[in-house]
Amino acid sequence: MDNKTGRAAREGSTATIKLVPAVAIPGYLTGEIQSKLAYVDESISRAEVSTGEIILHVSLLEPVTAGQPAVLTSERQLELEEKVQRVVVSMAKGAFAPKVQVLEDHLDRPVYYQLDPMQELFARGEISQEATGIYTLGPLLARLIAYFESQFLSLAESFGAAPYRFPTLIPARYLERVSYFHAFPHSLSFVTHLREDLDVIDQFAQQAACDDHGLDTPANSFASVQALLSPAVCYHLYFALADKPLPGGQFVATAVGNCFRYEAINLTSLERLWNFTMREIIFVGPKDFVLENRETARQHMTAVFEKLGLAYRVESANDPFFVGEFRKQAAFQSAFQLKYEIRASLPFKESTLAVGSYNYHQDFFGRNLAISLPDGSPAHTGCVAFGLERIAFAFLAQFGFDPANWPSDFRESVR
Ligand code: ATP
Ligand code: ZN
Ligand code: MG
Repeated sequence: MDNKTGRAAREGSTATIKLVPAVAIPGYLTGEIQSKLAYVDESISRAEVSTGEIILHVSLLEPVTAGQPAVLTSERQLELEEKVQRVVVSMAKGAFAPKVQVLEDHLDRPVYYQLDPMQELFARGEISQEATGIYTLGPLLARLIAYFESQFLSLAESFGAAPYRFPTLIPARYLERVSYFHAFPHSLSFVTHLREDLDVIDQFAQQAACDDHGLDTPANSFASVQALLSPAVCYHLYFALADKPLPGGQFVATAVGNCFRYEAINLTSLERLWNFTMREIIFVGPKDFVLENRETARQHMTAVFEKLGLAYRVESANDPFFVGEFRKQAAFQSAFQLKYEIRASLPFKESTLAVGSYNYHQDFFGRNLAISLPDGSPAHTGCVAFGLERIAFAFLAQFGFDPANWPSDFRESVR
């Protein structure tokens, strides 16, 4: 099938569409745009983005019968292409290259493993996949995570951080107050329950069944959404501190919690989960207090990672804002150096993965949630956030499964 903008080829029940981006995609945006194409259309099963070409793998909607060619109508193809181009234009048109600031570069440290740890983890029964982006972890990963947790807890201790436990659910109203729906709509996970109605509940109990798409339940059985699964840990602290003066004028807290980000077809392996765990150390107070502590935390972790021998780099980054917000917000974060990521080497794919981030939110939460300092001005906030599954995964990707290659104090605590 050929038309003005793209070409489609068919193979089995997927078609491949190649198209030329309406605006040339600069190299620094290819990854960002590729990850957003996951949300363009349910039929897109894979997307590959380069400066001059986008390749879409599309599952065909009609069931394919043996020997029959699957159909991607030209109307459907145009519709898909139009949506993809909308993303490209919105994100790439007028974008300018962020100045990537590298604070630390230890990517040249020796690594001891070259394979994707997923294969070995499955072979050992260390992980089992419940569904896309949802995994259970076995004893090796649990011990690895406990080791890293002990390091993060001593970082927290060095600030005298107050320990907190936060819920897994977060009220919709709270997220609305901090414009989360506007900035990150694509990755939200909604929670509902059956309406309090005897007939609805009886009917569900009798008829509930899963088909290939999930639970087959009439949409009007569900109550409206009051809560979501929490996408981050530190938000809960800001909500707890909202609408009053900050006790003592400055504050450090720490908590670990389940976080949820629906990352669609980007949910591959332990690298990117729907349900993951984050440890955060959170600073609330005047600007200098937050910025100095963020920097002290980074230096503390530099020593921890050096002792461990982790190969990584710390560089400026931006949050994964959705299409319409991306250009403006990413430029803002970059200009004010609001986010740095700890990107660990993944030798098996010659790439890096963010295992943590050092974040400064300026007075965004202080202003929107009315957290006030003694002089009446809004509090500034920042956090240091570590992805626990990711750091364990990156460790195995670099050090492998043979404890003989593991750092010695690590070997002792993890065996
Ligand atoms: P990425 O750039 O990989 O999408 P992020 O910038 O959205 O991550 P943060 O919001 O900084 O991540 O979250 C802090 C840490 O939480 C990340 O550095 C990472 O280790 C972890 N994390 C974030 N999203 C996921 C996910 N989907 N699966 C597993 N860990 C994650
Ligand atoms: Zn945070
Ligand atoms: Mg990131």
